[in-house]
Amino acid sequence: MFVDIEPATFNMSIEALRECLERDCRVDGSGALFTRDGAQVKAIMPVHLFGLSCRMDEIIELAARFELPVIEDAAQALGTDYPSRHGVARAGAIGDFGAYSFFPSKNLGAFGDGGMVLCRDAAMAAKVRALRNHGMEQQYRHAMVGGNFRLDALQAAALSVKLPHLDEWSAARRRNAQFYRDAFAAAGLESIVTLPSEPFAASGATNHHIYNQFVIRVPRRDDLCVHLRAHGIGHAIYYPLPLHLQECFADLGYRPGDFPESEKAAAESLALPIFPELTREQLSAVVEAIRAFYR
Ligand SMILES: *Cc1c(COP(=O)(O)O)cnc(C)c1O
Repeated sequence: MFVDIEPATFNMSIEALRECLERDCRVDGSGALFTRDGAQVKAIMPVHLFGLSCRMDEIIELAARFELPVIEDAAQALGTDYPSRHGVARAGAIGDFGAYSFFPSKNLGAFGDGGMVLCRDAAMAAKVRALRNHGMEQQYRHAMVGGNFRLDALQAAALSVKLPHLDEWSAARRRNAQFYRDAFAAAGLESIVTLPSEPFAASGATNHHIYNQFVIRVPRRDDLCVHLRAHGIGHAIYYPLPLHLQECFADLGYRPGDFPESEKAAAESLALPIFPELTREQLSAVVEAIRAFYR
């Protein structure tokens, strides 16, 4: 089951999650939770999109009420701070499980594929470890069928060298975001371009956003893309088609209009270059190209 997003942050809407659990699911005699189609609800999976944490206090509260584990997709949020009621926590280390990705496009990228699972419970951690290596806990003894999800030693070596720089890179991304904010304001584009929201900035947590992506919303998005391409300015659309409209999920029976905020975001959003090594001149050139388009 999907739930719609909160338009300001692109993250899971707490209201939508609550409605989904309270209205669209039902509890059977044994206390287990089921969807309308009779499938058991096994977990809540929030995605911390673009480097900003979901509202985890509320998600954890709902999960506790419905006795569901929380599995965080923190692929874009390695190092992201979340100012919870109980103090600052790290996205991916709040729920029962968290997953990070070291795919090269992430804030901490290997030179190939890699990832990491965080787990709160020791017995579950042992199981995840075994699943990673063909379900093997003891050499050549298989209690279950797993797969090969091992992290290459070469990838681990590259990541070890890069890891100490992660905080400075996150700070540089945040600096670039602030530069964009100031430059868009100076260019008089604030009423046209909707900048990413920073709901946790006032908390004082350093990595309240780590800007894996800097995603704006704009009118005439596709025409702007053509203009940016013509000016040699990198950009990307994350994501052009929401999950509920993907062919691979057609059997779930969702239709256009089911998640209006996700559909609107897919039509309006645009990611601008935000990587740490960008110069002020390059950032200015991006803003100038956008200003010229809307002039
Ligand atoms: C990159 C990404 C993934 C997939 O990570 P892999 O390492 O490619 O498996 C999953 N979720 C989000 C939000 C991502 O950005």
